[in-house]
Amino acid sequence: MGTVRRSVALLGATGSVGTQTLDVLRREPDRFELVSVAGSSRLRELAAIVREFHVARVGISHEQDRAAVVEMVGPAVEIVVGPEGLAALAASADIVVNAVMGFAGLPVTMAALANGRRLALANKESLIAAAPLVESVRRTPGAQILPIDSEHCAIHQCLAGSIDHPGHPDVRRLILTASGGPFRGWSPEQLATASTADALHHPTWSMGAKITIDSSTLMNKGLEVLEASALFGVAADRVAVVVHPQSIVHSMVEYVDGSVIAQLSRPDMRLPIAYCLGMPDRLDHAWGQLDFSTAFALTFEPPDVATFTALPLAYEAARLGGAAPAWLSAANEVAVEACLDGRVAWRDIVPIVSAVMDSYEAGSLSSIEDLYAHDARARDLARALVEVSS
Ligand code: NDP
Ligand code: MG
Repeated sequence: MGTVRRSVALLGATGSVGTQTLDVLRREPDRFELVSVAGSSRLRELAAIVREFHVARVGISHEQDRAAVVEMVGPAVEIVVGPEGLAALAASADIVVNAVMGFAGLPVTMAALANGRRLALANKESLIAAAPLVESVRRTPGAQILPIDSEHCAIHQCLAGSIDHPGHPDVRRLILTASGGPFRGWSPEQLATASTADALHHPTWSMGAKITIDSSTLMNKGLEVLEASALFGVAADRVAVVVHPQSIVHSMVEYVDGSVIAQLSRPDMRLPIAYCLGMPDRLDHAWGQLDFSTAFALTFEPPDVATFTALPLAYEAARLGGAAPAWLSAANEVAVEACLDGRVAWRDIVPIVSAVMDSYEAGSLSSIEDLYAHDARARDLARALVEVSS
């Protein structure tokens, strides 16, 4: 092949995106070298990855876990801890895969971009919350964001023929597809009885718990509207959502002349992960290959926004701008965690987020400190509402 191996930092290595990224790396040892990984609670799995890939640096969340990790990986491996540790790892690899769950992924996004790295971004929460800050840091020479989120990876591919001009004036709309989740077609009465176990049963994708719950409320799609707007510099009112239960069309771009360009593949996250790692090359693995030798149908329908109110909430956060997306995402993280812990019911998630947004206090978002203050305020309000609901 003759190409230089590119170094990869995989942060959130033990999760759903993380383990699928490892699967891609396993098959491409000549292209990529995994130099650092990070995880949080699954230390045994993290240590196994370090041993398999001979990783030099490991990030963990808690100082008290250090001794146990050293015991498993040996003294030669460097261990870094907490948000500063994540930032240090993200600063020093050619490609940084941010597969951390939730707002905890913020240091990865900021440090990768500030150090001119390629950021292969699964962690949508950091981009959504920090959009105004990311806007400037992504202009660092060498910095680049490639989206792993399948819809945004699809749009990235569909925009390949668009003129490279800020705001994409030749594009009328970005059209995100949504599977509709496990509760597609359910009435409000049925949804009032929905259990967390029902919500964890996604029809087309196998993912981590938080994003699976987000898919069931359609908050994931709302977050993805904000993500698309931040990534591609297109206002949220030019980002539409259409329900497509088969999850074959991963998203589309509608140009001003009415042409719609779509990206199709089987739902397999290894395809967008490999796209982000390999760019400008496409890796030869056919993970998403469709079988056109047997008949199949693709259907599209509008989302039921009267029932799934998380979607209009996200558009409202986009309209408010500033820190409103950060508040939405923070409140949602708290409510979903409470749902997964059994402290609130599934039906309580969106009303909690909605109530937090009713209390939204606009304020400056020009520094990381501002962002942490907004995040903490939204979380406090959400936690108080969780207390009342439980
Ligand atoms: P998982 O819950 O499966 O994995 C999350 C990962 O983050 C784990 O490795 C976890 O470590 C790690 N982690 C959590 N907190 C910390 C922390 N404080 N410091 C370091 N690492 C931490 O999530 P997913 O893989 O499903 O999702 C990851 C991100 O990708 C999310 O932002 C999600 O929205 C996005 N995404 C996921 C998709 C999917 O198919 N799963 C699709 C599109 C986007 P540990 O497990 O060891 O505690
Ligand atoms: Mg997605």
